[in-house]
Order: sequence, then C-alpha cells, then structure tokens
Amino acid sequence: MTGSDVVIDSVEAAAYTVPTDAPEADGTFAWDATTLVLVTLRAGRETGIGWTYGAAACAAVVRDQLAPAVVRCSALDIAGAWERMVRSLRNVGRPGIGGMALSAVDLAMWDLKARLLELPLHRLLGAVHDEVPIYGSGGFTTYDDDRLREQLTGWVTKQGLPRVKIKIGEAWGSQVDRDLDRVRQAREAIGESTELYVDANGGYTVGQAVRVARQLSEADVRWFEEPVSSDDLDGLGQVRRHAAADITAGEYGYDLAYFGRMCAARAVDCVQVDVTRCGGITELLRVAAVAASHGLDVSGHCAPHLHVGGLMAVPNLRHLEWFHDHVRIESMLFDGTLDPSGGYLRPAEDTAGHGLTLRQDRAESYRIAG
Ligand SMILES: [Mg+2]
Repeated sequence: MTGSDVVIDSVEAAAYTVPTDAPEADGTFAWDATTLVLVTLRAGRETGIGWTYGAAACAAVVRDQLAPAVVRCSALDIAGAWERMVRSLRNVGRPGIGGMALSAVDLAMWDLKARLLELPLHRLLGAVHDEVPIYGSGGFTTYDDDRLREQLTGWVTKQGLPRVKIKIGEAWGSQVDRDLDRVRQAREAIGESTELYVDANGGYTVGQAVRVARQLSEADVRWFEEPVSSDDLDGLGQVRRHAAADITAGEYGYDLAYFGRMCAARAVDCVQVDVTRCGGITELLRVAAVAASHGLDVSGHCAPHLHVGGLMAVPNLRHLEWFHDHVRIESMLFDGTLDPSGGYLRPAEDTAGHGLTLRQDRAESYRIAG
C-alpha cells in the first residue's frame, strides 16, 4: 500500500467530564466541570486523535453525521473530507455543536496524516515560527484574593510568563467596583513589567465598557476581551474607538463567514480563534488569512495543545491562551503535554502528529459516553 492508498478505517467518539479544581465563573457563565469530546481515527496501524470542549452531544454528531463522510476515504485528502463533512451538516447545523464536532474530526485527521507521514504536525503544515508565545489565563471571578494572587504569581514568578489575563464583568457587569479592585490587585501581584489582560465575556453594555476601559488604562491593561457580546460587532467597534487597550473577540466564531464580518466591521484589534470550534486546522488557516488581509493578528483561544501545531504555521500569530481549566485537563488525560516555562510553547520535533496520546488509565474514570 502506498501513502495515497491509505483510507480511514474507523471513526470513534467518546466524552469525558472532568470536575474543576474549584468553582469557576466569568462575567456571564459559571461551571464546575468541563466535558472533552475525543475523536479517534484509525487507518491501518496508525491512529489520530482530536477533541473539542463541548457537550457530549458532539460525540453523537461525529458518529451519526460526520463518520459516514470520512470512513473509507483517503486519510491524506483532508480538504475533501472537510467539504463532505460540512455538507453533511446542512440540515443539522454547522455552527455550535456541529462546528465543534467538525473541528474534532478535522484535528484528528491532521494528527493522523502527520503520523502516517511520520512528521510533527507543524512540519507537515510548514512552520514560520520556532515557538508559540502564550499568556496565562484564569483569574476567575469565583476566586478569592489569595487564590487570585497565588495563580498570577505562579505564572509570572515560577513559570516566567510575561502576560496574564483575568476575568471581569462579574455577574453581567453588576460588580464593576469589584472588577476594578481585582484588576488593581492583579497589577500589584504581577508587577509593572508583566502585561495584564482582562476578559469580560460579553458582560458589559457598550457605555459601561467604555467607562471601564478608561479605568483599565490606569492599570496599563493592554487587552480588553469581549467587553460586550461578540454578537454585537457594532458595539465592539464603538468600544474599540474609545479604548486604549486592544479590543478582541472571536472565540465563538464557528465559521469563516463570521470572521469575515468581524474583520470587515473593524470590530477588533486582534482576532481570537478557537481551533476546536471554528472547523479545525483547515478553517483556522483560512481565518488567519482573512485576518491578515485586514492587517490583523490572530490569537488562539484555549485548548492550548491543539492550537500549537496550527499556529506555528500562521505568520500573523500574536499568541495563544494558556487556559487554566484546559491546561489542567490536558495534563491529566494526555502524555506529551508541553512546558510553558518562559512564556512560549515549543512542539516536539521528534514526535509525529501533534504529539499527544490519551492516557486511557486516567481517562476511563471520567468517561460518560462512547
Ligand atoms: Mg474569552
């Protein structure tokens, strides 16, 4: 059998729900567990894995809708499989759960292809960087002052991360005084030389966000993420015109059309993209190209180990989110996770694919479906 003959033999999907290490909340949502939906592809003796963080229902969409579009098809022709999968979602819904399921399969296909060709994923894609800069992300609104300080100083002092982000917009923007107090505490904890970012998760109104943005300048906040809902592109643009910090959004972008509208509306200073939602690496690269055509950088959202390979190939890369919840889960469930010391990730050069393998022994107790 030659490389071009390799076909995908099977598609499996399983869901694992992992409790958080403490209650977590941002401006508009609270959670105590996170579900990872894992896709495993097999082609001959090789396997590829990808995942998304979403509802267990993603696993059913993979099995019922997407698997028939890829089984017995070439393991190398990812673009073709991707088109068939998108068409299969027409009456199911491409955004949301459909987009997450599509992303997980696409990520598994890229991992499988790289493993079949015995290449690290970033070599298959063609790296333009030696490393991916990261920023520490957490600072949940549920944390007390001690826990906030402990997390921030852990990133900055122990791991050498040069940029960190905390959540604000608590309780749909009803706790602005506490938000600003936590920003001041964060600045005090990390010192003057570390970049400080905030994320309101769409918790403020436009007027509120403009007023908060002025106060954030006093703490030299450089990044104001989702000051208002990312559905409100006009609102993001209004805040952007009044803020010193970069205005950013995009984590709920499920297809290229959304990112095109966001860029055309001049709503953000930096496009955030989530490879586990937008349609996998295949769509991530297109999103990055659209952003580049508007002179904008791209920043990866969460799921750090799934972004690294793809972002290494993105010229207009700014950085990647080192998100506490997902870092913890990926470290628990997978071998091959990366060291964030110094504030960047360097994918392994001696491992094929994205380099991660599931630890079945650890994952089994968290399995809820599949
Ligand atoms: Mg966010």
